[in-house]
Amino acid sequence: MPATKVKKDEDFNEWYNEIVELADLCDKRYPIKGMNVWRPYGWTLMTNVDSLIRDEMHKTGHSEVMFPLLIPESLFKKEEEHIEGFGKEVFWVTHAGLTQLEERWLLRPTSETAMYPIFSLWIRSHTDLPLKMYQIVNTFRYETKQTRAFIRVREIHFFEAHTCHVDFQDAERQIQEDKEIADRLLQKLCLPYIFNKRPEWDKFAGAYYTISIDVLMPSGRTLQLGSIHQYKDNFAKPYEISYETQDGKRAYAHQTTYGMSERILGAIVGIHGDNKGLILPPAIAPLQVVIIPIIFKGKETAVLDACRTLHSRLQSAGIRSHVDDRETTPGNKYYDWELKGVPLRIEIGPRDLDKQALTLVRRDSGEKKTMPLSNAEDGVRAELDAVAAALYTKAEKLLNENMHRVCSVEEAKETQGIITMPWCGTKDCALEIENVLEGNTLGEPIESPRCTETCPVCGQKAEKWMRFARSY
Ligand code: ZN
Repeated sequence: MPATKVKKDEDFNEWYNEIVELADLCDKRYPIKGMNVWRPYGWTLMTNVDSLIRDEMHKTGHSEVMFPLLIPESLFKKEEEHIEGFGKEVFWVTHAGLTQLEERWLLRPTSETAMYPIFSLWIRSHTDLPLKMYQIVNTFRYETKQTRAFIRVREIHFFEAHTCHVDFQDAERQIQEDKEIADRLLQKLCLPYIFNKRPEWDKFAGAYYTISIDVLMPSGRTLQLGSIHQYKDNFAKPYEISYETQDGKRAYAHQTTYGMSERILGAIVGIHGDNKGLILPPAIAPLQVVIIPIIFKGKETAVLDACRTLHSRLQSAGIRSHVDDRETTPGNKYYDWELKGVPLRIEIGPRDLDKQALTLVRRDSGEKKTMPLSNAEDGVRAELDAVAAALYTKAEKLLNENMHRVCSVEEAKETQGIITMPWCGTKDCALEIENVLEGNTLGEPIESPRCTETCPVCGQKAEKWMRFARSY
């Protein structure tokens, strides 16, 4: 029985809106639009994603910090492009109690302007570099477009890494590391992605260049999960982040940032889920296995004992499990856990016990198999790996089937998904394609070969490929 009123392949956006609440991820009834309440299940899921990010940060020598939420207007205004880019999106604090503030404060939309004045105090010498910091905090942006849970919100659960380096080359090495971090993380979340170098007119305000991390949602629209920015010394100059070089001169630091948000959760819900509910990647599922006792009269104790023993064994093996011993039918229990996206379900009844076996059902495929209770830990672990591999493969198929190389405007009109076209390098031609597609310029594929075609809009020689898509 489907959990949602709307089917995923009939109206993806409606299905998505329904499922995030049905599966207990968030409550959208809070009276500020775009500021949703995280429910316990959703928050556990989000913090599990954060844990994977923290692991990656610590492995790569980043330290976690926590900067204040409020930023004085004067600090915010130091980098001109930055203020131009974010100025319209910030929330202002004008009063403290009854007193009007002499200088307005703003709620961070991102933390460059809070961190960099302090970095300039922390960094003195080349021996202080590289400086690699990150924080996971809430940021605030006044979204005027239609809000959508985890995808377009006004209070954002945000990961931001900020690094300072001796020179451009060292900052470039950081960007390479950031790409590798993204790759390892998104593999674990079963999310195939593409990197795109954003066009000049759409890069992060103040950046030298921006690389976006985009995924394809089943609606055919792309969703930007994060971005990696090379700042060169664009922020270091106004914020005076300089250091003494080895030969006693002063030089400006070169900086990078790397940001991701709860959109990761939006992608997991949207890409993997189905009409029965969520399907969670085992790496972040709050529960990886749910054990359901199949009770028959007279065998209650034996079955429940077996379930509980198995549960403790799985827990000891580091597998997140739960025994659902509520007094309701197995059918109701299946329905609830399918909705919540638990990757594996184990059923144990008297017949299984006679054979010293268990029945295991995969959430993604519905595949059912029996396996011996004796080495359940290994069996469960192998099945969790199989679920993760299958989720990745399915999502990769969706991405690959919806990426098209197109060389004429007419062809582009007929094509869905992500379109790669020859591009002469002018903004006008890209905007023309955006118009035709009612979409966005995603950016240049960073791994693609040189283009030898002509620009389909102006007919000039095209040296680059450019990707376009409709986006969230
Ligand atoms: Zn052109």
